[in-house]
Formats: sequence, structure tokens, C-alpha cells
Amino acid sequence: MSYKAEYIWIDGTEPTAKLRSKTRILHDGAELPLWGFDGSSTNQAGGASSDCVLRPVFTCPDPIRGGNDVLVLCEVLNTDMTPHRTNTRALLTGPAEQYADQESIFGIEQEYTFFAGSRPLGFPEGGFPAPQGGYYCGVGADEIFGREIVEKHLDNCLKAGLELSGINAEVMPGQWEFQVGPLGAVEVSDQLWVARWLLYRTAEEFNVSATLDPKPVKGDWNGAGAHTNFSTKAMREGYDAIITACESLGERVLEHVKNYGFGVEGRLTGLHETAPWDRYSYGVSDRGASVRIPWQVAAERKGYIEDRRPNANCDPYVVTRLMVETCCAALEK
Ligand code: ADP
Ligand code: MN
Ligand code: MN
Ligand code: MN
Ligand code: MN
Repeated sequence: MSYKAEYIWIDGTEPTAKLRSKTRILHDGAELPLWGFDGSSTNQAGGASSDCVLRPVFTCPDPIRGGNDVLVLCEVLNTDMTPHRTNTRALLTGPAEQYADQESIFGIEQEYTFFAGSRPLGFPEGGFPAPQGGYYCGVGADEIFGREIVEKHLDNCLKAGLELSGINAEVMPGQWEFQVGPLGAVEVSDQLWVARWLLYRTAEEFNVSATLDPKPVKGDWNGAGAHTNFSTKAMREGYDAIITACESLGERVLEHVKNYGFGVEGRLTGLHETAPWDRYSYGVSDRGASVRIPWQVAAERKGYIEDRRPNANCDPYVVTRLMVETCCAALEK
């Protein structure tokens, strides 16, 4: 018997990489093979030496095709089997392994915006909807745009076995969020990339596109982020480790922020539940801080922290690597 494997990979589009995929027919019993693609069409190679290699790293059932079909997330290699320059996953596995004994876990809140043509879903032709206020976690056709797509995406993710922890409608019309995790750095990142692919693929059937643009509408409309919730075993057991992690992030502010997604300065303005990108702060319950300590965490004196700075269009392999490198190194001392 044969089945379909959808090989998915992250391309070299600047300034923000995007997902690509193509289908391979495989026969039962065989191992998932390495495959190749034309890197000159994805900003990953020149025309004269265009081959890039796909190596499977994460596989799950394909909820769209069903049956025995699978989704296969791949990393991109050069033909000599070294990691391609666009392969940020390869940079994460080392630090994740190095600090494995700290048992880091991440929950990432992926915000995104649906578009119908050139307007966010719910924005009237040639105008604006009522100002923000009623849309967040709203209900009713005057507040909610795209719920059938969101429900279908959630079902698809769960059928694929992805560990989503929830969904909600966001502050701007047509804007939504799903959360992946908590999981280890590599696992949460792999699953987030597959969940993103499923988002685009699910919305495609409704003739709607989804974007991770961090500021899809200028002006008095919320941007889209990817709040990254983080803990180590020590943080889940005591408050000193929570404070150590918060302080350590304050020592490498720009290194983090400039790798938290293209256009981060346009989103982290100090307005719309953000802190200014160049001024680091942390605080309990503070949605205007760079890093928030949830109130239950402060009350129980243990738990996790939320880095609110990553953009919706961030690369989770990069964000989780930086957090592991910064926080775990400080906690090791
Ligand atoms: P918010 O109140 O900021 O909207 P959400 O409920 O959207 O929060 O997301 C919180 C995320 O934090 C979830 O993905 C959840 O799985 C994750 N999380 C919960 N506990 C931990 C923990 N100890 N370490 C890391 N992440 C956690
Ligand atoms: Mn061809
Ligand atoms: Mn949330
Ligand atoms: Mn949110
Ligand atoms: Mn949040």
C-alpha cells in the first residue's frame, strides 16, 4: 500500500522565512527518505548549484488528507549534509541538549490575523470596523470573524496529535490566537511550525489567508505577538529562580529583541499592551512589561514567566534558543 507524505520545510525568504511543502508517494514499511528541492526557487541556493536536502525531523498524521497520510516537517541541509544557513533548528539542538538537566518547557501563544483579499477579515470594504474593545474573546457575528476556520484548524491540529493548549479571539477583528505547549524547546518549535502550516492550509479551503504580520493594521489596532511562556524545573519549584530568569533577560536585551521577529520595533511601542522594545522591564501581572510574572506564580512563589516581546512572525527555534542560553546559563550559576 502507498501513502502520501507532505514534506514541509522553512525557506529562505527575507526578512521573514515562510513555509513550503510538496508531496511524495511512499510505500508502507519504508523509512522516510531524505529528499531534495530546488533551492534557487526558495532563496536558499543559486541556480548553478541549486539542490538542497530535506531531512525529516518531525512526523504526524495528516488531518487534511486523513487515512495513513502524514505531514513530515524537515530541516534543510546542504548536499554535504551540513546544516543549511537557513536551518535555525540545528542551532537549537546543541543548547537544548547542553541544558537538558534543567528541564526547560515552553508554551507559545501564536497570534495571527485572517485576511480576505487585502483587508483583515471583518474590516468593511473601504472603511474601518468599530474600535477595539468588544472583540477579545467575543461572541456574535458583529464581533467574531472566521470562527469556523479557527475551529477547523484546532480540530486539524488535535487530529495531527499536536499539543495545543487553547485558542481565543483577539483584540482586533479577524485576529486570533492558539497556544502550543508546554513542551521542550525543540518539540514546541517543531509543533508550532506544523501548526502554522496547518493554519494556512486550513484557511486556504475557505479562500482566506492568514498572516503572522506583527502589525497588520497601522494605528490604534493591536499588533500580533507570540508571547513565550518559559520555565525550568527550578522555576517550577521556587521564586528565586523566577527572579534570576527575569534578571538574566535584562542583561541581554537587544540580542533578544533583534532576534524576536522582523519589525519588532513597530509592534513594541509601549502602547497596546507592549513595553518599548529598547527598555526592559518585568513585573507581576504587568501586560505593559517586557516580561510578565503571572499573578498565580507570584502568589504560589513558583511557576513560569512570560516573555511578551516575540513577534507573531518570530522563529521559535531562535526565540527558545536565546531563552535557554540566557536563562539556563544564569540559573546554572
Ligand atoms: P495569557 O494569559 O498570557 O493569554 P495563555 O493561556 O494564552 O496566557 O498561554 C499561557 C501558556 O503558558 C500556555 O501555552 C500554557 O501551556 C503555558 N504554560 C503554563 N504553565 C507553564 C509552565 N510552567 N512553563 C511554561 N509554559 C507554561
Ligand atoms: Mn521539477
Ligand atoms: Mn494568550
Ligand atoms: Mn494574546
Ligand atoms: Mn500572553
